[in-house]
Amino acid sequence: MRRLACVVVLGVLAGGSLSCQPEILEQRIRAGYCGVATPVEHAQDLADHGFNAVWMKMNFEDQYLDEMAAWGGACDEAGIAWFVVGNMTGGAERALQGYRHAVDEQGATLEIACLRDPAFMDLVLRDRANAALDAAEREGYELAGFILDPETYGIRGSYHRLLCYCDTCWADFIREYEIEGAGDVAAGARMIWLTRNQRYLQYQAWMEREWEAVFAAVADDLRERKPDLLMGNFHYMDTPFHRALLRGLGTEAAPALVGWESPSYTGGLIDGEKQAEYYASIGAHAVDVGGQWIGKLLPEAAAIHAYQMALNTAGYWLFNSSTLMLNWQETEPTSPYHLPRPAEEYWAAYRPTSGPTRRSTASWPIQTTRRRLTWTWDLSSPCPRCRHCRRPSPRASRRTPTWCRCILRPRSRRSSMGAPPSGARG
Ligand SMILES: [Zn+2]
Repeated sequence: MRRLACVVVLGVLAGGSLSCQPEILEQRIRAGYCGVATPVEHAQDLADHGFNAVWMKMNFEDQYLDEMAAWGGACDEAGIAWFVVGNMTGGAERALQGYRHAVDEQGATLEIACLRDPAFMDLVLRDRANAALDAAEREGYELAGFILDPETYGIRGSYHRLLCYCDTCWADFIREYEIEGAGDVAAGARMIWLTRNQRYLQYQAWMEREWEAVFAAVADDLRERKPDLLMGNFHYMDTPFHRALLRGLGTEAAPALVGWESPSYTGGLIDGEKQAEYYASIGAHAVDVGGQWIGKLLPEAAAIHAYQMALNTAGYWLFNSSTLMLNWQETEPTSPYHLPRPAEEYWAAYRPTSGPTRRSTASWPIQTTRRRLTWTWDLSSPCPRCRHCRRPSPRASRRTPTWCRCILRPRSRRSSMGAPPSGARG
C-alpha cells in the first residue's frame, strides 16, 4: 500500500496531473515564509534555489500596503507564486472596531471576536484578501492564496479551544432549538447549564456549523473573484473552530491549506494518507503543507526533511526564509533566527531537493555536499552516517519516523563515515 502510494506521488512529482486543482499543489508548494518588510530581492533568491512560492506575512497597516504590492511584483518577476498571510487575532487586530466580542465559559468578555459575527471575518479575511487581490489586479500579477494565522498573540482566550457564550449566540441557540426557560441563564453559567441539560454537544455542533457558514460565505465571495484562490491557516487541532475553518475555506478545486507547525517544525513528518482520511471524515477539502523551522535542523537534514514533506504532502514552507539573509555568526545563538551553520550551506542543500529532476528517482536519493564530504542518502538503505540505523530508534519513531535520529545531530569532527558519532544509536 505504501509502495503504491509512493509510485502515485512520484508520478505526480514527475509531472502527472491527478485533478484540476491549482498547478502549484501538483508541483508541491515549496515556499519561503517571510515578513513584508523583508527586502523583495529575497523572492529571486528563493526562485534561484528551487522554491516556487513566497508566503508573505502582511502587517495590514497603511504604511505596508505599498510593500505588499511590491512583493507581488517581485514574485511575479521571479516566476514564483505569491501568497499573503494575515493574522487573525494579533496585536493590530485588537485595534479593529465594529465586531462583537466573544464571551468565555466563565462569563468574561474577551478581546477576541465572536466568530458568528460576520463583521470580524469581513475585517480579517474578506477586506484583506480583497486588498491583495486589488493590488494584484492593479499591477497585473496574480495572488495565489491567502492564509490566516489564527494564533491569538498576546491575549487571553483562543479559538483553538473555546466556544462563545455571548448573549447573541445564546439567544440564537435557544431560539433555534425552541428551548424554554434558559433565557435568563447568566453567561458564566451557560456551559454548566448546557452540560446539566445534556445539550453541550448540541451547542458545540450548532456553533461549529454556524462558524463554517460564516467562513464559507467569505471564501465563496472571494472565489467569485478568483475561483482558484487557495486559502488556509497555520496550526491545526481537532476542534470545532479548526474543523469549521477547513470546511469553510476549502473546496475540491481549491482545498484548504493546513500549514502545520508541530510536528514538522523540528523534523517530524506528516502522514498524508492518514490526514486525507481524516479530512474526508470531517467533510473537509484540505491538504497539508508542513512548516520547517530552518535553524532547528542542520542543512542536510533540512533538505531531506523538506523533500520528504513534499513527497508525503502538498509541500512545505520555511520558517523563516529571511533567516537565510542573516549572517549566522552575528545572530545570538538563543535567537529563534540563529542558524547553526552558514546560510550558504542551507541554500545549497535546498536547491537539489527542490528541482524537478530529482523527483523521478525510485530510491529518492539526495546528494549533499558538505565541506569536502559528499554522500548520498538513500532512504531504502541503512543510515550512511552511522551504519547502525537499520530501523529507527523508539524515540526516533515518535518524532522522525522515516529516518535515523543521528542525522539531526551535528557530526563529530573526529567521526568518519563508518563510525557512529558519539551518542548516536540506531
Ligand atoms: Zn458569540
